[in-house]
Amino acid sequence: MIHRLWFRLALTFAVIILVTVVTIYFFVSQRISVEIEDYKTMIAQYRSDQIRSRLYLHYWDKRSWEDVQSVVDDTAHVSGTRIILVGANGTVVGDSKDEFPVGTNYTDSSSDPLEMFLGAEFLGKVYISSDPAAEPYIAPFLRLSASINRSLLLGGSLAIGIALLLTLVLSRRMTSPIGALAKAARRLGHGDLSQRVRLQGEGEVAALAQAFNSMAADLEYAEQLRRNMVADVAHELRTPLSNIRGYLEAIRDGMIEPDAAAIRSLDEEARLLSRLVNELQELSLAEAGELKLVYQAEDVANLVRQAVGPWQPQLIAGEISLSLDVPDNLSPVNIDWQRINQVLHNILENAVAHTPRGGTINVAASAKDKWVEISVSDTGEGIPAEDLPHIFERFYRVDKSRARATGGSGLGLTIAKRLVEAHGGTITVQSKLGEGSRFSFTLPVGK
Ligand code: ADP
Repeated sequence: MIHRLWFRLALTFAVIILVTVVTIYFFVSQRISVEIEDYKTMIAQYRSDQIRSRLYLHYWDKRSWEDVQSVVDDTAHVSGTRIILVGANGTVVGDSKDEFPVGTNYTDSSSDPLEMFLGAEFLGKVYISSDPAAEPYIAPFLRLSASINRSLLLGGSLAIGIALLLTLVLSRRMTSPIGALAKAARRLGHGDLSQRVRLQGEGEVAALAQAFNSMAADLEYAEQLRRNMVADVAHELRTPLSNIRGYLEAIRDGMIEPDAAAIRSLDEEARLLSRLVNELQELSLAEAGELKLVYQAEDVANLVRQAVGPWQPQLIAGEISLSLDVPDNLSPVNIDWQRINQVLHNILENAVAHTPRGGTINVAASAKDKWVEISVSDTGEGIPAEDLPHIFERFYRVDKSRARATGGSGLGLTIAKRLVEAHGGTITVQSKLGEGSRFSFTLPVGK
């Protein structure tokens, strides 16, 4: 419990409140006792002046201390004190408590008597002592001081109690979302990627919860992608592998001669496999954002010419005419030549594969603000509208059997899209069934 955040918060608050209350108590009671002491001194001064002046009046009147006892009693009663009046000869002339009879010698070295003079004549000394039981002036102040102290103590304890309770409740409320987050994070760490925390509000903890939820969602999505990828790859590898095994078993059982044709078929399947593996590797690099692009300013016309060059034999064989529509004055593009050549290669490969004998392929380029758009249009069979949104997905083929016959892996456009996006560009497709398709992508103009 000592390490729990809510406990530490509550403890800290409690200590702060305690220190505050104790400090206030100390200063207030200190101040009160100083004030009371001042008041006491003032009262004592006033009282002794009063007592002295009454005694003087009597002496003035009688010219002696004769019959002073009644004045002493009276004065002592009114001022709430004990008065012993000692004459000039050192004997008692009046005692408010009648303890010392008139004529007895009296000295009290422990108290400080008031000396009385009339001109140069020494009249005697007055011993005044407070009678606490009959302190008419100070008693209310002492009671007030005690009551203030009591109230301070009571109020302070009450404040500490309430504050402790409040901080306990508040700090528990503040820290319980953190506890929930920690629990969810632990579960996430143990592999339950569906963990989310439900927290509303706008504070830092709510922001933390949101960040946690979006991280968990990303992790779940990445995990889903990974599973799909593994399933897709297993599925794609299975066909060529079972073809190879089929051929080998047939040869072993003597059903097929291990002649040149059989070896060519085996070789084709093996080529398909290795192409698939290469493309997968490239795709996984592109998807992880780990492609190291070597940017250089490239001339667009030159780029297009070099990309279409290798397709000439197929174009001639398929009687497909190719037209280039690339203006000479285009600004150079800032690209990794090899990667964009690969994009063009993939798109052209599709165009060539899907354009029938006598068809046309047009490669065009045009400037668009800070971009250059390159497009490849063909007069091929086109792509059905329902397939268009999926055409850039991994392993997606419109016609599975035909694609396999043409050796397509269903990865060409996915890789092309990733490579174009790695350059900051976008790739789009327009197609009409029976009329043809147009693939276009943008590349950044060099600075
Ligand atoms: P593949 O390696 O199978 O060609 P792609 O990702 O390059 O894979 O293409 C996905 C699918 O898109 C292809 O199987 C094909 O059906 C369709 N496709 C791509 N380009 C064209 C095109 N120019 N004309 C018609 N269909 C196309």
